[in-house]
Amino acid sequence: MIKSKNTFLPDFSHIYVESEAKKYNLTRDCLERFPNARIVEISDYKSFFNKKSQDFQTQKKSIKLILAVKKPPFIYKSTDILQDGGFKNFYYNTPILNCLYNCDYCFLQGMYSSANIVVFVNQNDLEDAVEKELLIRAFPREPLVLSISYNTDLMAFENILPITRSWINFANKKSDLIIEVRTKSSLFSSLSDLKPSNKIIFSWTLSPERIVRMNEFDTPTLERRLSSIQLAISKGWKIRLCFDPVIIYDNWEEDYSNLLNKIINSLEKKNIYDITVGVFRMGRDYFQRIRKTNPDSLEYYKNYIDENKIMTISQEERDNVKTLFTNKLRDYISEDKIHFWI
Ligand code: SF4
Repeated sequence: MIKSKNTFLPDFSHIYVESEAKKYNLTRDCLERFPNARIVEISDYKSFFNKKSQDFQTQKKSIKLILAVKKPPFIYKSTDILQDGGFKNFYYNTPILNCLYNCDYCFLQGMYSSANIVVFVNQNDLEDAVEKELLIRAFPREPLVLSISYNTDLMAFENILPITRSWINFANKKSDLIIEVRTKSSLFSSLSDLKPSNKIIFSWTLSPERIVRMNEFDTPTLERRLSSIQLAISKGWKIRLCFDPVIIYDNWEEDYSNLLNKIINSLEKKNIYDITVGVFRMGRDYFQRIRKTNPDSLEYYKNYIDENKIMTISQEERDNVKTLFTNKLRDYISEDKIHFWI
């Protein structure tokens, strides 16, 4: 995959299209976007995407795009590993599988054998499932909160297909629905014409510049993410700051303290909806699969503990993370607005 410098638009050499996906508008829009790509029709994305003996990191160097029709389920209940931000009816869905970015701590490398990106073009089916779930959610007095950017960074895709925009427009028409858009992208500018809505939480993951450089490959710099947040704030959107995962290394405290100082000095606290803080955690199966295939990343050779099949850092290290964030953020935001996965 070559990145076009001017537009940050990846150039997909091949686009694989399920026969059933051909009739959808998103397919048409996507093919128009990449007139030079070679189009290959396939019968079922799974037989292509789930093929054994693919190498995730080799494919990352030349990502192909797959347009497919999602089959049920279209919506999933939150897992223990996901941060629910204190919401009781917390769900996620998967408009896209895989990501344009390549964070070395990302569980997607363990989840999928392929790094190719699958876009599900039957957006209406995903929306219908949300409508149905709204009616049967477990806590009817509480809103249904939907994370739309769980197995991908959806906003990073916004200049390819405006899927985040579609979900924002959908949420604006539904009562009791809140959508969380988790991102490291600096593409908020592509949404800045929209009217701010309290149905949407833009949740930016922030890390010290060293972590951006060493662990979050292909992602925008910290400065560019902060500029996007400032733009979103200036337009009146609700912002969640997400420090997840906090990575432990020599001097991590100094780097994270500097990061928090920068945030406290550059983002006005009244505009921050809440903050989530998490540490490295990954299901043991995914962790072991990545370790087998990704020996370059030091993240998989640190001392983790296995806590009920979740690989994570020691309790002492987790306590240190909690103490640092609690102390630094004490005067910035009230304690009940900081959610820890620790
Ligand atoms: S941005 Fe998120 S989904 Fe994308 S590679 Fe990084 S951790 Fe994974």
